[in-house]
Amino acid sequence: MEFRLTDEQRALIAPVREMAQTTFRQRALRWMDGTFPWDNIRDLAGLGVLGMTVPEEYGGLGLPVFETALVLEEIAKVCYPTAMAVLGEAGVQTRVIARYAPEGIRARILPAVVSGDCILSICMTEPHAGTDVANYRTNAVVKHDRVIVNGSKTLISRAEEAGMFVVFTRIDGRPGREGIGCVLVERGTPGLAVTGTYHTMGGENLHEVQFNDMEVPLENLVLREDGFKRLLTAFNTQRCLNPSISLGLAEGAFDETTRYVRDRPVFGKPIADFQGVRWKLADMYKDIEAARGLLYRACWTADPFPDPFLAATAKVFCNEMAIRVTNEAVQLHGGFGFTDEYPVSRLYRGARYGSLGGGASETLRDLIGRKLAGEDLGPDGIMGLGYF
Ligand SMILES: Cc1cc2nc3c(=O)[nH]c(=O)nc-3n(C[C@H](O)[C@H](O)[C@H](O)COP(=O)(O)OP(=O)(O)OC[C@H]3O[C@@H](n4cnc5c(N)ncnc54)[C@H](O)[C@@H]3O)c2cc1C
Repeated sequence: MEFRLTDEQRALIAPVREMAQTTFRQRALRWMDGTFPWDNIRDLAGLGVLGMTVPEEYGGLGLPVFETALVLEEIAKVCYPTAMAVLGEAGVQTRVIARYAPEGIRARILPAVVSGDCILSICMTEPHAGTDVANYRTNAVVKHDRVIVNGSKTLISRAEEAGMFVVFTRIDGRPGREGIGCVLVERGTPGLAVTGTYHTMGGENLHEVQFNDMEVPLENLVLREDGFKRLLTAFNTQRCLNPSISLGLAEGAFDETTRYVRDRPVFGKPIADFQGVRWKLADMYKDIEAARGLLYRACWTADPFPDPFLAATAKVFCNEMAIRVTNEAVQLHGGFGFTDEYPVSRLYRGARYGSLGGGASETLRDLIGRKLAGEDLGPDGIMGLGYF
């Protein structure tokens, strides 16, 4: 086993790290009121990393999961909203388009993802169907060569900015998981409306998205067969990428904290001189390194398809580790840690997201426990198909 990054991997992340630690760090407070980090997105497009998971034939880098996770980790060290926006360009929605969209959409949308001109949004959650993801009421009715969609989604990221929405929906009212597929919807489609706004503690805005007799061409209806299983499968990859943001947030908060405790004098000496503080640093460090080991292993083995069990385990551990570490980082900054003066409060708020989205910790623990108890979950059960 090789535990060092290759020269190519170092070369990939070096300019991202440089840009994040200088420019993004300075800009980070700007995005806490829901403003989309367009400046950062354009800068990252300049580095080519927005198309990390876009196939090379469409101008992307076609990177494996591991390299994609390394880039997200670097961005998350300083800026949660930017890392989330980049995940939006590298995650499930990009995979759906690259794999299943008609060639016309692929040829138009994917190069625009690479250049930062097309932001993607994925619409799954409904007011009554979050974790219970297959309980959708949104329905797409096929009429000759058109598809008519009615329903609503909630808590949707990047809905205000998106050029394309990847919408998971019931098809022709077919019941259960088997009835679920996906509709690709371009911004400006009549009947598509972005409505209510939720401002999150992480800084970004989420929205409601309505479909009122919205019509799209039949070719935009994809994943008609095994749609739900393929969605689950794609989410196993997402479960490697989401925790890379958690890892980055924890590392960023840890770096801030080691600097702070060496500089902050209390009782005539830096607080780093107190054993109680050093023990906290040691615990934060071991938590981060344990998470890194688990996550890197999950990511390293994630192509062409991740081990769903390992990905779920890494996600739960990293998400919860980031909450512990960023929480301790705020604590070690004292009262200043609770203000906007120091980055740790932002990183703490961002870290709170990980265990909620992309498979909540409770769901994943359930999955892990069922497997450990000997239940058969795959290859086409709740763990996905084993291919996308
Ligand atoms: C920042 C952010 C961005 C998001 N972006 C998007 C997006 O772009 N697109 C999108 O579609 N959605 C998005 N979401 C929504 C997210 O996917 C949902 O919040 C998530 O799936 C959980 O659903 P819910 O909020 O309805 O919680 P619920 O399903 O109501 O769950 C509430 C609680 O109950 C627990 N729970 C549920 N079932 C069980 C069980 N069987 N056993 C034990 N505990 C259980 C859950 O783990 C959770 O803790 C986003 C959410 C956030 C916070």
